[in-house]
Parts: sequence; structure tokens; C-alpha cells
Amino acid sequence: MTDTARNALETAARLALAFHDSRASRPAGPAASFDDLSAAFGGPTPEQGEPADAVITRLAEIAGPGLLGTAGPRFFGWVAGGSHPAGVAADWLTSIWGQNAATWHGAPAAAVAEQVVAAWLVDLLDLPRECSVGFTTGATMSNFVCLAAARDAVLRRVGWDVEADGLCGSPPVSVYVGEGVHVSVLAALRYLGIGERRVIRVAADESGRMQVCALREALAGHAGPLIVIAQAGHMMTGAFDAVGDIAACAHEHDGWVHVDAAFGLWARASGQRRHLAAGLEDADSWAADAHKWLQAPYETGCAFVRDAGAHRRAMSIRASYLPQVDDDVRDPAHYTPELSRRARGFALWALVRSLGRQGIAAMVERHCALACRMARRLALGPGVALLNEVELNQVIVRFGSAYDDALADDLTLRTVERIRAQGICDVRAARWQGRAVMRLSVISWATTEHDADRAADAILTAWDQVHGDYLNQEREAMALAFG
Ligand SMILES: *Cc1c(COP(=O)(O)O)cnc(C)c1O
Repeated sequence: MTDTARNALETAARLALAFHDSRASRPAGPAASFDDLSAAFGGPTPEQGEPADAVITRLAEIAGPGLLGTAGPRFFGWVAGGSHPAGVAADWLTSIWGQNAATWHGAPAAAVAEQVVAAWLVDLLDLPRECSVGFTTGATMSNFVCLAAARDAVLRRVGWDVEADGLCGSPPVSVYVGEGVHVSVLAALRYLGIGERRVIRVAADESGRMQVCALREALAGHAGPLIVIAQAGHMMTGAFDAVGDIAACAHEHDGWVHVDAAFGLWARASGQRRHLAAGLEDADSWAADAHKWLQAPYETGCAFVRDAGAHRRAMSIRASYLPQVDDDVRDPAHYTPELSRRARGFALWALVRSLGRQGIAAMVERHCALACRMARRLALGPGVALLNEVELNQVIVRFGSAYDDALADDLTLRTVERIRAQGICDVRAARWQGRAVMRLSVISWATTEHDADRAADAILTAWDQVHGDYLNQEREAMALAFG
């Protein structure tokens, strides 16, 4: 290796450690604008190369102001895991090993790591032991993989081979989703040739759970290929669909039940929270993320499919130059859409080994307890309304709840802006049931009780300031109006 290439690796390791050590004290938000960053990264196409170590130093310098605190302890803005060092360290090795994890012959250690982790995860999440597992780039692709298997199976039941003949001229596939469906499910259905407009939405309750009685009514008299998509862990409320009841209903009509369980599936790893995800095992496929609750580095997701044959038919890639392997040897390319792919199993293997069953359960339980703690603290603030029952790790609140809707929307958005400008924690605005809300997700391994309290206090301070500004404006306006 040339000196500068070797130095680049050492420089990266040093810079990575410095970043790691500083994550608790870094501001949660970005310090640079799109234009700042464009100027820093930009310039004409490089003509002559530069030494790799200098390039790496420069990269860290200019990227720094554009990095969010997603790997830090006070990022609550989205359901984003915190890239745990055990997984990241394995990921460093994965990069330097440069394995192409398409096949057993191309990457023997990677194939076996995936096979072992697949069995561990099925055990940890208590899914049907016959499940076959694909390691994807995230829940969007996990939804895609599972729904591709579903499409194969439900069409095969009516004598149509979708892998050979595609969807042109096929019997129609009916797809039911809850109103709370995540957009990534709709995207996956689009990729699979099932247009978004064809999807039938079933009414949800006030927590975003699919109403089983509405599904039952909608399916009465149904005939033909059927896929019903449930959700475990609503991105706003954390609510779980009643998957056992949904499955009973859909299976009466010979349907396939898929669950988008991007983060909710991990509740099954916890003795305290498992009851929320009861009945999930009755479904036929499950999409989950590992880069959310398991804290794996991006991009890591898992697709679990009960019918291993349907999974294989939907995803297998074969070619003469890829040697066939025995059935008990894993070729990773048979479980996900890609051929050449990253060896995702190494980081997962390292994470599960380093956290263990107990560590994963404790982490999930800790995050749920911290979410409750933050919700309780916030709800004590005057004019702060807690909008969900905090059963999992999601919290939604609204500021100025005593005012009319339009004003409360405005105050809520202003409060979120103020919180982000303070830089102590990162939270985001969203819309829930037509109203602006602030959404909190407690999901980073790095978050402590102290971080949760500090963030809750910062949020209340910001609200206090925004509310104070509003009252002052009102007072001035009144003074002007009445002299
Ligand atoms: C995050 C999320 C997804 C999408 O997952 P990606 O990993 O971003 O592809 C899908 N469904 C739910 C419920 C999610 O929370």
C-alpha cells in the first residue's frame, strides 16, 4: 500500500474517534446551509489527484458543519438509530475486507455470518422458525422483498406465475392497508407494479391502528388474490395493529398478511413490551430495520418471510458463472434484489454478539421508559398537550393547546424551530390528524436519563419563550388598538 493510502486509513480512524468522543457535546443540528456546503464540497471536476490522506482530512473538515446529531444522544427527530460502535467497528472491517456478499463462493464468511444472524434474529424476535431472512438496505426494501414474495404466492394460488409472466394480463391482486400506512409500503407496491391508487385503505382508530371490523366488512365476499398489510409501531403514536385478528380475517380469504414492523418488531425482544406485538407471529412476512432500534450502521434492514419458497422465487438470481450451491449453504443473492452487495451480516453479527439478548431487551425497555419520562415532564408544562398514550418510544405533543387550532399549529411549529435553533436536542414537526405536532422518538443507544431530562427542559424553555413572545405581541397590539 502506498503511504498516503495507508495514512488515509489511519487519519480516518483518528478522525472517527474524535467524532465519537465529541458526539455528546456537539450541537444536535447542522451549522451550515446548503450553499455553504455546496461551496465547501464544490469546485470544478478535479483534474489531478491529491494524496488520499489529505483528501480525507479535508472531507472531515468540510462535512463537519453539515452533520446532524443522528448518532448523538439527543436526536429525537426521526426514528433513527444511533450507529452503535460495535456495529460501526465491524463495518470498518467490512469495508476494508471488500467482500462481495452476493454468493457463498464470492464471500464465504459473509454468507455464513448472515445465515447465523438470520437464525439469531428469528429467535430473538420469536418469529416462526421456518422463516427465511433477507438482509436489505432498510425497511423500504424489506417491505419490497416481503411484498414481492406475497405477490408471487397469492398469484400462484390462482395458477399464475408472476416471476415468469409478470403482471400484464394477470388476475388482479387486491391490496388492503390501514390508513396509517407508511409511505415506504406504498413505494414498494409501486415498484412491484401494483399502483398506489389500486390500494384499498381501511379506516384507522385515533391511534392509527387499522380497525379490524372495518377490514372484516371490506373483505366480506372477497375472492381472488389478496394481500393485507398491517403495521407494528406507528411512526407517530407507536401503536400496533391487532395483527393476530387481522391475520385471522385475511387468512379466511386465503390472503397473505404482511407487517411493516420497521421498529415495532423489536418490542418482541423485550419481556416488558412483547405484549404490544402479540399476534404478530400469525402473519406471513415482516419488514424490519436494523439501523433503527438495533443501532446497526446504515444501511441495514431485515425481511422475514414464512414461505421460504415464495421468498426464493421472488428474489433468486442465477447465472452460469455463479456456481450452484447445496440447499443448506446460503447464497445471499437469493434473498434480496441486489447481486453485488455489502456484507451486512458482519455488523449485525457483531452487534447481536456485543449486546446479547439481554442487552437488546434492556435497550428497548430503557428507550420506552425514557419516552414515558419525557412525555410526563413535557405534559407538566402549561399549555402542552400530550397526544398519544406512550406505550412504546414515540411521543407527540402540541403546544398552545388551549388556543384555537390555527394558533396552536403556528405556536407548535415556532416552538420546534426554536428548539432546533437552541441546538441542545433535535426534534421535528409533523402533522397528525390534520394538526401540527412535535414528534419525539427515543431510539439511540447513547441517550441517557440525563439527556432525556436535558432535552425535555430545553423543549419547555423554547415553548416558554415562544409563548412569551406571543403574549408580548398581543399586549403591544392591544396597547396600540386602545391607545
Ligand atoms: C422508518 C420506517 C420505514 C422505512 O424504513 P427505511 O429504513 O427508512 O427504508 C417504514 N416503515 C416504518 C413504520 C418506519 O418507521
